[in-house]
Amino acid sequence: MKAIFPGSFDPITNGHLDIIRRSSVLFDELVVAIMVNPEKKSTFSVAERVAMIEEAVVGIPHISVQASTGLTVDYARAIGANVLVRGIRAVMDYEYELNQATANMMLDHEIESMFLVSMPQYSFLSSSTVKTISANHGSVRDFVPPCVELKLKERYEQIDSGE
Ligand code: ADP
Repeated sequence: MKAIFPGSFDPITNGHLDIIRRSSVLFDELVVAIMVNPEKKSTFSVAERVAMIEEAVVGIPHISVQASTGLTVDYARAIGANVLVRGIRAVMDYEYELNQATANMMLDHEIESMFLVSMPQYSFLSSSTVKTISANHGSVRDFVPPCVELKLKERYEQIDSGE
C-alpha cells in the first residue's frame, strides 16, 4: 500500500522524521509531500525543503520526496496513494486534524486518513518552535537533523547581518 505524508515541513524536524520512520514500516511506499500553499509565506524555499528532507531520510527505505500545490487528496489520487498519514502531538492538533480529515473524506472517501501519535519527546516540537529557538541563537541540535541545524543557522545569520 502506498501512503502520503503531507505537510509544510518548513523545515523538517525530528518529530516529522519519527512519523516518517514509523510509517515507513507500515506501508510499501511512503511519499513525503511538501504541499505548497502559495498564500502562506515560508521560511525555506520548496527546493531547500526538499533537499533537507532528502538528506534527513537517507537510509530509510521506500521513501520519496515530492512537492505539489493544490488539494492533498487530488495529489494523493494522482500518485495512487490511498492513505494519508498525519501526526498528532496534542489535543490541539486533534481538533485541526479532525477537521482536515473530515473535509478530505468528503472530497474523496476512498482515501483514508491515518494518525500516528507523537513520541513524548517530540510532542512539543514544531517547525515554528525550532525557528524561534534558532532565531534567538539557541541550540536546536536535539530537535532537528544536522543538515537542518546548519541551514537554520545560516538563514538566521543572514537575517542578523541584514542580507
Ligand atoms: P501542516 O502545515 O500541514 O500542519 P507541518 O509540517 O506543520 O504541516 O506538519 C505536518 C504533519 O506532521 C502534521 O500532521 C503534524 O501534526 C505532524 N507533526 C509536526 N510536528 C510533529 C511532531 N513533533 N510529532 C509528530 N507529528 C508532528
